[in-house]
This record gives sequence, structure tokens and C-alpha cells, in this order.
Amino acid sequence: MFKKILIANRGEIACRVMATAKKLGIKTVAVYSDADARAKHVAMADEAFRIGPAPVSESYLKADKIIEACKLSGAEAVHPGYGFLSENPDFVDALDRAGIAFIGPSASSIRAMGLKDAAKALMEKAGVPVVPGYHGENQDADFLKEQADRIGYPVLIKARAGGGGKGMRRVDDPKDFADALKGAQREGEASFGDGRVLIEKYLTKPRHIEIQVFGDSHGNAVHLFERDCSLQRRHQKVIEEAPAPGMPVEMRRAMGEAAVTAAKAIDYSGAGTIEFIADVSEGLRPDRFYFMEMNTRLQVEHPVTELITGEDLVEWQLRVASGETLPKRQEDLSFNGWAFEARLYAEDAPKGFLPAIGTLEHLALPEDSARVDSGVRSGDEITPYYDPMIAKVIVHGPTRQAALGKLLASLEATEVAGCVTNAGFLAALCRHEGFAAGDVDTGLIDRDLTQLIEEPSIPVDAIALAALTALGLTRPASGNDPFDTLAGWRIWSASRQYALLEIAGERRDVEVHALGHQRFAVQLEEGSREYALVKVEGGAITYDCDGHRARAVVVEDRKGLTVFLGGHAFPVALPDTLSADEEAGGAGDQLIAPMPGLVKVLNAKAGEAVTKDQPLVILEAMKMEHTLKAPRDGVIGEVLVAEGEQVTDGTVLLALAEEADAAA
Ligand code: ADP
Ligand code: ADP
Ligand code: MG
Repeated sequence: MFKKILIANRGEIACRVMATAKKLGIKTVAVYSDADARAKHVAMADEAFRIGPAPVSESYLKADKIIEACKLSGAEAVHPGYGFLSENPDFVDALDRAGIAFIGPSASSIRAMGLKDAAKALMEKAGVPVVPGYHGENQDADFLKEQADRIGYPVLIKARAGGGGKGMRRVDDPKDFADALKGAQREGEASFGDGRVLIEKYLTKPRHIEIQVFGDSHGNAVHLFERDCSLQRRHQKVIEEAPAPGMPVEMRRAMGEAAVTAAKAIDYSGAGTIEFIADVSEGLRPDRFYFMEMNTRLQVEHPVTELITGEDLVEWQLRVASGETLPKRQEDLSFNGWAFEARLYAEDAPKGFLPAIGTLEHLALPEDSARVDSGVRSGDEITPYYDPMIAKVIVHGPTRQAALGKLLASLEATEVAGCVTNAGFLAALCRHEGFAAGDVDTGLIDRDLTQLIEEPSIPVDAIALAALTALGLTRPASGNDPFDTLAGWRIWSASRQYALLEIAGERRDVEVHALGHQRFAVQLEEGSREYALVKVEGGAITYDCDGHRARAVVVEDRKGLTVFLGGHAFPVALPDTLSADEEAGGAGDQLIAPMPGLVKVLNAKAGEAVTKDQPLVILEAMKMEHTLKAPRDGVIGEVLVAEGEQVTDGTVLLALAEEADAAA
């Protein structure tokens, strides 16, 4: 076994790998960019090396810097995590030349599976069923169109080098084919430097079911059962589970065998995933699953497999890479219970899942009820440079229902302030009836999106507690000042106080009367209610109202307050009178970049009339395109940026003319 390894990654996966290394008594070396100098993965490692500035192309993708860090530290092997260099065969070759082991498959296995078209051809030859379509050499546009016509619509055009759901276009109507082809080629070229495509029959009721495989350098290969990753948005996984709901035993066997055949066909060593798509228009059937692609690395969702099998997949990776045989044979592997993983992201689901950035001013992850794999701590920043994942929340239960209940409870106990998250969306998914019944397919999220991103309106208790906090009435007693314990009930303080709050863009004036020790009457639009604070501990407030005892957490950050109540987070802004007046005049008159990015498309000229929600700017940030729309009807006054310009967040992109000017 290795004595010291280097982890060529960051965030949760770097921390995850180090946890197992520590367990096995292996020393760990981290690498970091300037943006990560104080990151959790650096703090966790025994030693760490700076490899460059924040952008990944200048740091985490710099193979030579990483190899240099191995030499300086004496690390014998590199764990690549996922993403970055994990599926780069040239990196594996370079390590090989330097005499450093790669904790992953051989360069030739990675090459064999690296391109979707070649991988499909290879699997077809090995007798593994593949999605019907065209995956040949000819890239002539007319020829590809003929192939699509032959396959029959809808079809899916895929960039052969694609990954992460990018470079794909669904085509329903033959007349849209040419444009879609150009789009897929453009995205493939831009993101992966390869514009070549393949065409597949688009399955209209598919489930994404993948098999975890493992091989060693002694010719053995096993599978560790399936994961269902059908809950997706824009072809990206949102919640994963294992086993797959409703999976017939004979289908599991057939898929497991096909996956092991695939692994053996390329002499696979290490952890890999064979992704299949199942046509479930007639339910799950052993003759209706097709090879989609192989990911030659550890998968983001590997923990669900760990929880049902009781195996540590990173430990398996380390053992196999150091030359040991697989820890278990196929017949010794089994699974029990059910596991789910939810990906907690800094993103704004109601705003089209716009990635968010910000400081995690308050972060309480559900470590008591779930396994939480995270690379950030309270006070850390989500930057625009990397994937905005905050944590993976992973649970296990004896049954699917029990595990899903645990996942919901864990998400409801998750508190993040300073940055919007998809926690509410994930919790809504857990409450979704179809999902709860195991009736999943890749279209579920899109079909019920409106319901899933609906934000609950703020409860009166949350408004009241926000008002009390804003007025400084919920501060715990210091114990020194006798008057402290009488917060809000000082003889010289006004018995009547007013808090000015802004909730969902609306002003709320809240009147508070101190009634006695930790007792207040709060006058709301909904009427007057009496609150007694039973216990205040940091931001956690236990209170009585109308004979009902409840608990909420109120956190203050730079932007205002966040109230966590009943499993939901409610942001409350605290406008001061001055900025309030300014804003009232200017609201909705500007289009502001919500994050740093590149102005990809600018569809606006000064003097042009626009209607509310008309798309004006496409901003590319974090490798995704975000459409920014007109905030209201009006006329464009001024355009302040140009296409191709890099902007920081908060940059005013354009301004609408004032109503009076526009009329003139
Ligand atoms: P999977 O679930 O199949 O492992 P994902 O859909 O999570 O893959 O990610 C798609 C691609 O983006 C993969 O190539 C993965 O390695 C990469 N990726 C995902 N998350 C991160 C991350 N936090 N950092 C770097 N790369 C990532
Ligand atoms: P990536 O490399 O981006 O992960 P995949 O080929 O694995 O690309 O496909 C990603 C997702 O796109 C799948 O999980 C599935 O939801 C959807 N998808 C892929 N191929 C098809 C298809 N032929 N029909 C319907 N959906 C598909
Ligand atoms: Mg995939």
C-alpha cells in the first residue's frame, strides 16, 4: 500500500479521498489555487502545494505543476477525484513517465471510453446493447440528417466528447435538425475542443440506471449493483439513489453482467461506471436497456453505493492501484436497505437554476441525520471559478420510504445563509408524490417544475421573529448587566418600537410592544400576536405563541436576516431609510450582472423598445449560459457593455430609460 498520495482535486471529493487515506494511515498531499489557499481540503492535508491562480486552466488542470508537487513531496500516487484531470489519458501517461502511480484506470482504458462514438462501437462489438443511432465517422451535415430521418424523430444529437450534460440537442422536427446540429457542434467545440457528434434515438420515457464496476490488474472485474440517477435537470443529476426502484432481479443480473463484460472488454482496472439508459415506456424490462457511456473514474454519486454495500470505494481504489486484488468476489457482494444522495448547490432554482456565489455566512449541515460530504465550512466562499456545490447529503434507511423520510428531514435541517441554495427545491422533490412512489424518469423534474420551484410565502412567526431580531430584542442575556435580562423592557426605552423589513421585495412595517420579560406583542397586517421567548441561544430561538411552542433560527448577515423555520429559509432584508428611497426610484431600471461572466450575446440597442421578460443578454458563467431578461416594459436608455466583454457581478449591463424620458 502507498505511504503518501497526492490528491489532484479540490472541494468535497478531495476531502472525501483524504478521509479514507487517513483511515488507512496514508499521508496526504493537497494542491490548491490562490482562491483555495484557506480551503477545507488544504487544511485537512498533511502538506499542501500552491499550483497557480484561481482559473482551473492555470491551476487544477496543470499536469506539470501537479507532477512537480509529487516529486517535491515524495507522493507515490495521484488520486484525481472527478472532473479536472480524472479522465485525461495524457496525464496518466505523464505520471507513468515520472514513475508515479495513477489511482484510476490505464491510459488505454480511458482512451477507449473517452469518446462516446468509439465507446459505443466497442461495446457493440463486445455484445453490450447500445442506444440505436449513428455513431460512425461521417460528419457531413446532409448525411447526418439522413441518418436522423432513418432513426426516426425525436433524436438526440450528442457531442462525442461531451460530458456533464453539455453538447446535447434534442430534435423533434426534421426542419430543426440543421440548427440543432450546429448548436451541438458549437458547444462540443467550445467546451471539449471537438465538434464531432453522434446521433441517437431519443427515448421519450427513459430512466438513467448505471452500474458501478471495479476491476483490478489481475484480470478480475465485479459490479457493485446499480444506482438510479433519473432525477435530472438539463441532463444533470440532482438526486441519486440505490438500488433502483422497482428493479426486477433478472434485469439487475442482466445489467450487472453487461457492465462486467464492458469492463473486461477494456481490461479495466479501478472504479468505473457504466451508464445505461432504460426505456421504461413499458416498465423496466431486461431487454430494454442500452449502454450510453462509461465514466472511467469515481462518480459524484458513489456514496449511495457505499451505503448499501458497506464498502469504501476509495479504499478499493487505493488497494487496486497499489497492485492488490479486488477486496471481494462477486458472490461475496450484497446490498441492504436504501440510500439517497442529494446535491446541495449554491443556485437559485426559481431563477432558472442560476448558479450563485457568496460567502457562507452561516452553514449548518445535517451531520446528525445524514452522511455529509462537503468541501466547505461556515465562512467559506462560493466563488465563480469552480462548481458551486456546497455538499452532498447522503442517507441510508432500511426501506426506500424510511430513507426518503430521512433525506427530507436532513434537507429541512440544512441551514445556509449568505448564498441562495437549491435546498428548498430538493426538499420539494422529496415531497413529490411520483418520486415517493418510485415512479421516476428523466422528464419528472421538467414536467412538474412549476410546483417544485414554488416558494412558500413567509409565515407570520418568521416576520415577527425577524422584527424582534432587527430591533435587537432577541439578544441572549450577557449575565453582567441586570437590565440585559429585561431586553426590550427597559424603563427608559420606548414601549413601542418599529421594525422596517423588506420581504420578497415588499416593505413591511412591524410594530412591537414590550409586555414584560421576553414577552412581546407584535402588530402585523395579519393582526396582533403575542410572543414569549423561551430560550435564545445564538440565533436559535424557542418561542411560544398562541399556546404553540416552536423553534426557529434567525441569522444575521451582510444582506440582512435569514429566518429558518419549518424546514424553509426566508430571507428578510433590512432596508435603511436612505437606500430605501433611492431604490424606490430606481427599481427595475437596470439590468445587472448577477455573477461574474462573459457577455456572450447582447440583444439590445439604445432607443429600442422592449417588453418585460424579453431576453436581452446571455451571460456565460461557470460554463453555462444564463439569459437575462428585461425587468419591465420600456425603452433602452443606455447599453454599458459590449459582446465578448468580461464583467464582474453587480456590473450594470444596460439601463432602461426613465418612464418620463421614454414618453418624451
Ligand atoms: P457524474 O454524476 O456522472 O459523476 P456529474 O454529472 O456530476 O457526473 O458531472 C459531470 C461532469 O462534471 C463530470 O465529468 C464530473 O467529473 C464533472 N464535475 C462534476 N462536479 C464537479 C466538481 N465539483 N468539480 C469538478 N468537476 C466536476
Ligand atoms: P454526459 O456525458 O453529458 O453525462 P450522457 O450520454 O451520459 O452524457 O447523457 C446524459 C443524460 O442525457 C442521460 O442521463 C439522460 O438523461 C439523457 N440522455 C442521454 N441519451 C439519451 C437518449 N438517447 N434518449 C433520452 N435521453 C438521453
Ligand atoms: Mg453521463
